[in-house]
Amino acid sequence: MKPLSIALQSTPVSAALTVDLLAAKQAATGADVIRFSVGEPDFPTPPAAAQAGMHAIERGHTRYANASGTPALRQTVAEALCRDYGLSYAPAQIVITSGAKYAVYAALYALLNPGDEVILPSPYWPSYLHAARLAGGTPVIVGGVQENAWKLTPDALSRAVTKRSKVLILNNPNNPSGAVYSRAELAALCAVCRTHDLYVIADEIYANFVYDGAVFTPFASLDADAKARTVSIGGMSKAYCMTGWRIGFLAADTAVTSLVSAMLSHTTGCPCTISQEAAAAVLSETDGGRAALCHAFEQRRNALTRALSPLLGAQEKPQGAFYALLDVRPYLHSGEDERAFAMALLTEANVAAVPCTDFGLPGYLRLAYTLPEARICEGAGRILTFIGRRA
Ligand code: PLP
Repeated sequence: MKPLSIALQSTPVSAALTVDLLAAKQAATGADVIRFSVGEPDFPTPPAAAQAGMHAIERGHTRYANASGTPALRQTVAEALCRDYGLSYAPAQIVITSGAKYAVYAALYALLNPGDEVILPSPYWPSYLHAARLAGGTPVIVGGVQENAWKLTPDALSRAVTKRSKVLILNNPNNPSGAVYSRAELAALCAVCRTHDLYVIADEIYANFVYDGAVFTPFASLDADAKARTVSIGGMSKAYCMTGWRIGFLAADTAVTSLVSAMLSHTTGCPCTISQEAAAAVLSETDGGRAALCHAFEQRRNALTRALSPLLGAQEKPQGAFYALLDVRPYLHSGEDERAFAMALLTEANVAAVPCTDFGLPGYLRLAYTLPEARICEGAGRILTFIGRRA
């Protein structure tokens, strides 16, 4: 047989999903496994969305629709961006996708030509790396430092720019670091993007999760030039507990959205119409349960960082999203790496955490605090005991 796709043969399955699968297998044997592995809110989908989804089925809204999203949902997303952030987009500048993950892929396909460089601050969400490669781009990784909460600095960005640089991917709030950029930090990065004429893919799917009174600033809201060079990405998975409904969206100039629309018309066809009605129902509510959700996750973050304080020391709490990083380098046995550590933690202590190897941060684990507080505290206690036993 002739060889299969070389590009896909060097694309591993998501590390978070792999660990979570192992955790599920272990739980199926009767073990009480605490899963810090997958970034998925454990709260139910808001009733307004669930009911709208059921009504869509009852009314037979179960047929093909526009590949770029229903006019109703594109309009609702445009209104929500205006209501929440003062951003003004026409419905034609909004495209609905089957999850935000697909919006990232589609944006990269729309922006890149073979060999174009994609600047990726690390630690990063692993799908960016693979999406950039599959779209024909060359990822250029720019390492962050813990002292700056892993955030990209204008200097580091400037140093990474070459003649082939085309796109910066900026994830704010960040998975896996939980970092949140201030308006001033974004403006300084934007100035570098302007100097070198870079597009920005601003993945803002965790926009709802900012803590300690911090304010989320959309990259596109900086000024007219920032808006023109930005593809903003959002979705229903995190802020509305709708991971399985698979609805994401992007907002950009019509030059970009028309290319994305063409791509969707030949790939996904259209996002699930039932899910689109569900999304529109809750997105048109001013709050839609988001404030309470943010508050719940802030409490959980506090519980996790408090329980792990013997390991985290004076490290600043992550300011957003629902992830925390744990540096396990001091606790590794000789010849062991963070992957082996994560496996031992799972098999010996029944705690699933994701090694950050594929996030560009070897030596660290990512903990998603998407669990009830009691489970978070129990899991943190198990981690402390596990590490204590290794000393
Ligand atoms: N972007 C980031 C940074 C994520 O962490 C995730 C999911 O974990 C996504 C996008 C994708 O979300 P969706 O469920 O909408 O595909």
